[in-house]
Amino acid sequence: MRLVIKNGRVIDPANSVDVQTDVSIEDGRISSVTPDIDPKGAEVLDAKGLVIAPGFIDMHVHLREPGFEHKETIETGTAAAAAGGFTGVACMPNTNPVNDSAAVTELILRQARDKGHVSVYPIGAITKGQAGKELGEIGELVDAGAVAISDDGHPVSDPRVMRRALEYSTHFDIPLIEHCETPELHPGGVMHEGHWSTILGLRGIPAASEEISVRRNISLAEMTGGKLHIAHLSTRGSLEAIRDAKRRDIRVTCEVTPHHLFLTDEAVKDYDTHTKMAPPLRAAEDRQALIEGLADGTIDAIATDHAPHHADEKMVEFDNAPFGIVGLETAVALCLDRLVGQKVISLAKLIELLSTHPARLLGLSKGTLSVGADADITVLDPEKSFTVEPEKFRSKSRNTPFKDWQLKGRAVKTIVGGKVAWSAD
Ligand SMILES: [Zn+2]
Ligand SMILES: [Zn+2]
Repeated sequence: MRLVIKNGRVIDPANSVDVQTDVSIEDGRISSVTPDIDPKGAEVLDAKGLVIAPGFIDMHVHLREPGFEHKETIETGTAAAAAGGFTGVACMPNTNPVNDSAAVTELILRQARDKGHVSVYPIGAITKGQAGKELGEIGELVDAGAVAISDDGHPVSDPRVMRRALEYSTHFDIPLIEHCETPELHPGGVMHEGHWSTILGLRGIPAASEEISVRRNISLAEMTGGKLHIAHLSTRGSLEAIRDAKRRDIRVTCEVTPHHLFLTDEAVKDYDTHTKMAPPLRAAEDRQALIEGLADGTIDAIATDHAPHHADEKMVEFDNAPFGIVGLETAVALCLDRLVGQKVISLAKLIELLSTHPARLLGLSKGTLSVGADADITVLDPEKSFTVEPEKFRSKSRNTPFKDWQLKGRAVKTIVGGKVAWSAD
C-alpha cells in the first residue's frame, strides 16, 4: 500500500523544511520527501495549492468516555478530531470512573483501537479520584500508556500534594498538566470579573484566581525540577509569570485555546451559555497579551480544551450551565483565518504550535515528516472558505460560540498512519 502526495507545499518545522515537493508513504510511514517521485503503482493525491503538515495533535480534549457517553464517545470525539484536522488527541481523565488506574487507561486505549478515527493518548489523574488528597498510581498509569498526568477541572489545591506529584513525575519524565485556578477566591463565579461582569450582574472569576495558582506552581516546579505544563492560559499576568520563569530556565510550558485567543468577556453579553467555560473569556488586554505570547514564543501550544456538553445541559440559565465548549472542528480554521490570514504568526509557526510542540511536550515520536516517521499528516487548504455549521459537526455536541463564523482556510484531509481518516470532499 503506497500513497504519493504530489506538489504540495511541505512544511515540517522540526526539520526546518518549507518547500514544494512530493511525499511518499509506504506501510504507514513516510518513505521519502523529495521532488518528482514516480507515482507508478501508487495511489496519488494531487496537493497543488495545498499545505502538507505533520499531523496536528490536540493535547487537551475531553472525550467523555467512560461515563458521559451522552456528551461524547471515543468514536464521535475522534471523528470530530479527524474532521478538524487532528491526527491525535490527548484525553483528560475526568471521566467516570476517573482515569486513575491502569484498567481505565487500558479501556480507553482499547476503545480507541476498536472505534477511534485518530490516535488517542490518555492522560492519567494526578490524585486518586481527582480528589486532590492522595497521589494516584502514576507509575502504573505510565506503564499502561498514559502520556501525562493532570487533575484538569480540579486544581490541586494542597501545595504539599502538588510538590510530591511534581517530584514523582520526574521519575517518569512526563509532564504534569495543571488547571490553574483558586476556586476559594470566587465561589459561584461564572465569568471573568471585570467591566462586563458588573454590567451583566454575573458573579466574577478574577484574573488573580489563575495567576495565584500559576505563580505557586512555578515555584514548586522550580523547587522540584518537575515538568509543569499550564493548561488553557488565559490572563496577561499568567503569561508574564511564565515568560519570567522561562527566562530563569524553570521547566514550565503552556498552552492557549482558540476561544481565549479570539473572544473576550464581551461575548457573554447575550448570556449565551456557549460563552461559559473555565477559565472564562477574559478582557481585551488579556487576549492581546496571549496573541503577543504566541508571536514571541512564550506560548508553546494551541489546544482546544474540547469539552462537549449535551444541548439540554447548556439550555439553562447562565449561572446553572456547565463550563466548557467544543473545539475540535473549529480550531484549525479559526487559527488559519485569524492568526495566519491576519499575519499574526506564520503558517510554519502555527504548525509548530499544533504539531511539533505538542508532540514534543507529550514525548511522542510524532509531529514531523522525517523519513521513517509515522505517516500522520494534516493537509490544509489555506484559501478554502469555511462556515462554522454546528449541525454538521461529527461531535455529539454542538456547544460552540463560533456558529456561523465565516473563515478562510481549513484542513481538507487527515491522514493517520498512512490511511485517510477524513477527507473534506
Ligand atoms: Zn481545565
Ligand atoms: Zn479541560
